Amino acid sequence: MQRLSARDLLERLVSFPTVSRDTNLPLVDWVEGYLASHGIASHRHWHEDGTKAALFAHVGPMEAGGIVLSGHTDVVPVDGQNWTSDPWVVVERDGRLCGRGTCDMKGFDALAIWALVEAKARGVRRPLQLALSYDEEIGCTGAPPMIAAMQAVLPQAAAAIIGEPSRMKAVNGHKGGAGYRVHVKGFEVHSSLLPQGVSAIMEAARLICWFNDRNAENQAKPASAMAALFDPPFTTLHSGMINGGTAHNITAGDCRFVMEFRVVPGESPQDWCTEFEAYVAKVRAAMQAVRPEADIVLERFFDVPPLTPEVSGHAEGLVRRLTGDNATHVVSYGTEAGQFQAAGYSAIVCGPGDIAQAHQVDEYLELSEFQAGLDFMEKLLSELA
Ligand SMILES: [Zn+2]
Repeated sequence: MQRLSARDLLERLVSFPTVSRDTNLPLVDWVEGYLASHGIASHRHWHEDGTKAALFAHVGPMEAGGIVLSGHTDVVPVDGQNWTSDPWVVVERDGRLCGRGTCDMKGFDALAIWALVEAKARGVRRPLQLALSYDEEIGCTGAPPMIAAMQAVLPQAAAAIIGEPSRMKAVNGHKGGAGYRVHVKGFEVHSSLLPQGVSAIMEAARLICWFNDRNAENQAKPASAMAALFDPPFTTLHSGMINGGTAHNITAGDCRFVMEFRVVPGESPQDWCTEFEAYVAKVRAAMQAVRPEADIVLERFFDVPPLTPEVSGHAEGLVRRLTGDNATHVVSYGTEAGQFQAAGYSAIVCGPGDIAQAHQVDEYLELSEFQAGLDFMEKLLSELA
């Protein structure tokens, strides 16, 4: 297959509607075939249900110490969004490339694939690796098994660049996170007999009040130096969806809600989860003292380590050199960078586009940002040559 421009690659990638709930295999097949046609072997790590795969590849000497460029292949749905043009076709309007995933983050994926093929054609002295994950948008669950599979097959890269949209700034820290789906199981009685029943809604309210209390405490205490880099400069607890109950005069049999922690580096998502689960155990015991059938069932559905700013980190040094950006940037959203860091890579977030565009109707990537990304890749290739 002829060598494609980064722009052509972007158009190809966007044409695959890789919404997280659907398969990404057509995209992975295509990328694998494209890389193979340029003499680059890829490896897959399969999702356990066989509907998705992550893809990784290596160019250059088979030795450790290279750079890995990493992005996710999945995108958020377009359901209920009123797009001006087909979201799965890249359209150029007003200096912008419009299409689902152009910004988050197929723009970077296209640049990374472009750079890998260029590295193969031009030759590099230090290795360049590509890692494309799935299921990032539903809680960064695809990257950890991909990273483990990659470490089993390829020499370990020294630095990982995760190209989430950062306007090509070097983002060296982000919050971690963890989330639960909570199912509170009450016991239905007529509400006039309240003490004989258990209202799942009212018990859920205790848990949600606990979030409010922790937020107030976190906000009131002085921020650590690390936390002070973030806005807001503390760990937050949030519940974004709830439903339950059947009638005004029946104690609710069921209440379901979701909750998330966004944890500043220096604190551990696991510690927060342990504390929450201890409180849940207390509430559950009180419910079961009234009705043994009552229960609280927790399902942990995401778990993302924070990206902790590194002291003279390799990835940060490299990206600062290539972008000329010497300021400090941290963000409050989670990425796969924390997972790479937890697996022993020096890691940083740097990619084209503005996170404000992510997930939006008429999502776009400015041409100037895409060009800045291309310039970055050119410099990276010179660095590795
Ligand atoms: Zn993303």
